Amino acid sequence: PFVITEPCIDEKAVDCVDVCPVDCIIEGSDQYFIDPDLCIDCGACEAACPVGAIFYEEDLPDVYKSYVKKTEDFFKSL
Ligand code: SF4
Repeated sequence: PFVITEPCIDEKAVDCVDVCPVDCIIEGSDQYFIDPDLCIDCGACEAACPVGAIFYEEDLPDVYKSYVKKTEDFFKSL
């Protein structure tokens, strides 16, 4: 799946939500999150994000790898 990272925090542009064909991007308190079980890897959100916050999981820069766990924790908390 794709993963939303640090630049989203306090930015929360909704461009990704608008383009996601499967509506799997959910609003959290400080950022949006992509549901890894529903994402179909289309890449539309990555292209639409105005702050470059979204990466394919395998391509995550090291500094943002913790966002995989943060995303898992968010969906577990729902
Ligand atoms: Fe939605 Fe596609 Fe982004 Fe996955 S890659 S969250 S399916 S827009």
